[in-house]
Amino acid sequence: MLEGKTAVVTGASRGIGRAIAQKLASQGASVVINYNGSEEKALETQQKIQENGGTASIYRCDVSDYGQCEKFIQDVILEYGRLDILVNNAGITKDGLLMKMSEEDFDRVIDINLKGAFNTIRFASRQMLKQRSGRIINMSSVSGVTGNAGQANYAASKAGLIGLTKAAARELASRGITVNAIAPGFIETDMTDALSDKVKEAATAQIPLGRFGKPEQVAAAAAFLASEEAGYITGQVLHVDGGMVM
Ligand code: NAP
Repeated sequence: MLEGKTAVVTGASRGIGRAIAQKLASQGASVVINYNGSEEKALETQQKIQENGGTASIYRCDVSDYGQCEKFIQDVILEYGRLDILVNNAGITKDGLLMKMSEEDFDRVIDINLKGAFNTIRFASRQMLKQRSGRIINMSSVSGVTGNAGQANYAASKAGLIGLTKAAARELASRGITVNAIAPGFIETDMTDALSDKVKEAATAQIPLGRFGKPEQVAAAAAFLASEEAGYITGQVLHVDGGMVM
């Protein structure tokens, strides 16, 4: 279904990004696994894809760094000659109450989660414009839709991603490029593993389906938005959250 297409997935060394990389590769895309710190995990993602007969390469790039992103995207285009799908999935949390939050923790979360997506879109969209087609998917969060106490930086970054998604969708629509966001709820990854049992219990109580989601369930939504069939959907936020936002 995605044969001949090149897909970049940021933050694909672990968690949701890894599941998306595996899903897109299983559909025939050549996948670029981006990571920043976890080289071994990125190699593991690549190995899993190759074991299933897929094609994948790994690229280190700190998405918060504009210059690194320019080189990253240029190198991908040199290697594959095209870029069809960009999934801005890389993200971090640095939680804390607003009044105690350091400037550094605010900036780092915004720089990776929000500016990181701007950086890659800035360079990837140039190639997609030439191709007159493309799919851009930004990983937002339920936090960016409803807000969440203790996550002022994270919620701001994820709400910002929704604005970025809609502005980019309007700018790029005339050239056949769609831009959408996914807003997951609580998904079982390292990010949510770090939460205390008490927080996990309180979170579960807010989920109509009564359980955390799996990375593969977010990957299925990403694969749909990346597909040809989703070509008439742009500027939308797809909630994959067990019913938290409805
Ligand atoms: P995770 O398991 O903590 O993985 C985060 C990924 O982001 C890793 O692959 C990490 O790569 C990468 N990353 C972090 N900083 C980076 C940087 N500066 N440059 C490039 N890559 C970087 O997180 P996850 O739970 O899979 O979350 C993935 C995305 O979904 C995030 O945007 C997150 O905010 C969003 N999300 C998650 C949940 C959830 O419940 N898990 C809910 C809503 C939204 P390295 O380790 O190689 O640095």
